[in-house]
Amino acid sequence: MAQACGISSATDRSKNNQTSYPDLLHTLVWNAIMDNATDVHLHCVDEGVRVIHRVDGVIVPKAVLPLMEGRRLLNQLKSAAGLTVVRSFAPLEGQMDWHDEDTTWEIRVTLTPVRERESAHLRLLSAPRDSWDLCGLGFSTTDRDRIASTVRSLSGLVLVTGPTGSGKTTTMYGLASLTDLRTTTTYSIEDPVEFKLPFAQQIEVDEQHGLTMHEGLRTILRMDPDLILIGEIRDKDSAIVAARAALSGRLVLATIHARDAAGAVDALHYLGVPHHIIGSSLRLVIAQNLLRQVCGQCAQPRELDENETDVFARLGMNAPKELLHPGSCAECGWYGYKGRTGIFEVAPIDDEVGALISAGARHRELVERLRVKGIRSMTQDGLAKVAAGITTMEEIFRINAYARSEEPTGQKDNAEPVEASVG
Ligand SMILES: [Zn+2]
Repeated sequence: MAQACGISSATDRSKNNQTSYPDLLHTLVWNAIMDNATDVHLHCVDEGVRVIHRVDGVIVPKAVLPLMEGRRLLNQLKSAAGLTVVRSFAPLEGQMDWHDEDTTWEIRVTLTPVRERESAHLRLLSAPRDSWDLCGLGFSTTDRDRIASTVRSLSGLVLVTGPTGSGKTTTMYGLASLTDLRTTTTYSIEDPVEFKLPFAQQIEVDEQHGLTMHEGLRTILRMDPDLILIGEIRDKDSAIVAARAALSGRLVLATIHARDAAGAVDALHYLGVPHHIIGSSLRLVIAQNLLRQVCGQCAQPRELDENETDVFARLGMNAPKELLHPGSCAECGWYGYKGRTGIFEVAPIDDEVGALISAGARHRELVERLRVKGIRSMTQDGLAKVAAGITTMEEIFRINAYARSEEPTGQKDNAEPVEASVG
């Protein structure tokens, strides 16, 4: 199977591996980690079990294991994840760990019956090695400083928004770690807890036992919190409690599903939080998405076509003379890309914007006000990263950020230097 997945297992790193699983499972997890996969899917197909990786957000088909081998792998997986090996007629969830010299992966395992067989999904979660540094996530130093001054004031509501899988939770933890967590009482309510945050009391939603997001939040409020993390706000009661907690002088960091900073205001309002409470509690909104970073070893410079030059011009930015086109080499596993970086809209809510929100300003009006104040949109941040040779135009078009954005034209170029990003 190692060969079928195209990865040899004899590398220096494997010698440091401290986890031992049965043969097929060991190779499966090992290949996923070497491939920097975040997810592994085992799908039952007529010929056997298809192995699929998700790498940097993109699906990569790997091997198809023969039926008998596939069954053996699923049994090894269930046993390692603490699940019954007997075929189940309901979905099963389990967990296992993988350690090597400097990283521990927590692997969440879900099995589900599919016709007379089973499919599985593995989610590989690892804590970032070099803390939760915001510049490491792709924030510019200007944005990081802007964020730090808000977060360190330790009061108000800060929202991190974006689509599913856009790195919102990582950013929320990055924000929390800007405070001195040893000298604040920090609680989180999450569904589920995705990473371990030092010095925080992390509570996981467990609706089966009556611990809903709303109930968890109410409990936290009775426990004298300075800092509350919420992942993520999905219901009216939680939204209102979060906003009121922020108004009572706590710092509340929360994720919410929306497409941009102004959209996060709408999302809270649709959940039932009155505009005047949003306007007076909200201090900062960060909207984000993830783009793949072009491989520095094999990327080739190329000139921009007319359409690409036009995209820069319409967003009021100077187009670079050339940009990078992805290549293919062993360093990036022939993908042309390696690692991901965030693109961000960092929108502080000052008195003026807060008053606009309280007055029930529409989405378009808020977006225009933020742009006038020099707040860069996610697309503009992405284009700055294209110009800096961190990512490609293809990535901008792939996540469709440009098509979804509603940019007023003719803004001034407020591009800033961009830091190195997630490896
Ligand atoms: Zn490469």
